[in-house]
Amino acid sequence: MKLKKILVLEDEASIRSFVVINLRRSGYEPIEAESGVDALEKLKMNPDICLALLDVMLPDIDGFEVCRRIRASGSKMGVIMLTAKSQEIDKVTGLMTGADDYVTKPFSPAELTARVDALIRRLGIDDIDKASNEIVSGPFLLNTRNRTLEKNGQRVKLTQIEYLLMRLFLQNPGRAMSREDILSSVWGNEFTGELKTVDVNIRRLRIKIESDPTEPEYLTTVWGYGYKWGY
Ligand code: CA
Repeated sequence: MKLKKILVLEDEASIRSFVVINLRRSGYEPIEAESGVDALEKLKMNPDICLALLDVMLPDIDGFEVCRRIRASGSKMGVIMLTAKSQEIDKVTGLMTGADDYVTKPFSPAELTARVDALIRRLGIDDIDKASNEIVSGPFLLNTRNRTLEKNGQRVKLTQIEYLLMRLFLQNPGRAMSREDILSSVWGNEFTGELKTVDVNIRRLRIKIESDPTEPEYLTTVWGYGYKWGY
């Protein structure tokens, strides 16, 4: 499973490493930055960062400015400002520049990770992750992370070849696929097998997914050409 990347912008090394250790312990992948410029550079290099922890007081550009630039780029990533206790005004400024939340220093590891977890849930970053791994078509749900298929919520056991066939069809609904195309996408270009291999595997797959494999409802035949996900 891919870990979620979190930018940690903090110029004080001791605080930064404290935050980094605790994020790692909670199952995140921290990306460290020690200045505003460094943070912007790291954001450019890691477009998959889903949340940023931004210290306000920095030697170069301050945390608010970094937040402003993140939002100006159109990013919807989560932003939590790390503010000092005396800087009550920071909270208002932070929320005005597009921050989602703030944590007041000094904070406990539990407090920090609770805020991070809560913001990730609130922004639906978990759901986006999950949704991008699932393809739904009629009664079928294919999970491309676990490589599993369900029909009406019931697991359908597939071989790896059958899984690859299902994925190919569900990614190309309604499109007539020639047997040559199917052979090269599922078995690879180097495979010099016969086109009959495709037919044999489609027949097996139909037995698993169709109510009546002789009258396929989903995986239909395109006569003289190949097959189509007809749902
Ligand atoms: Ca600082």
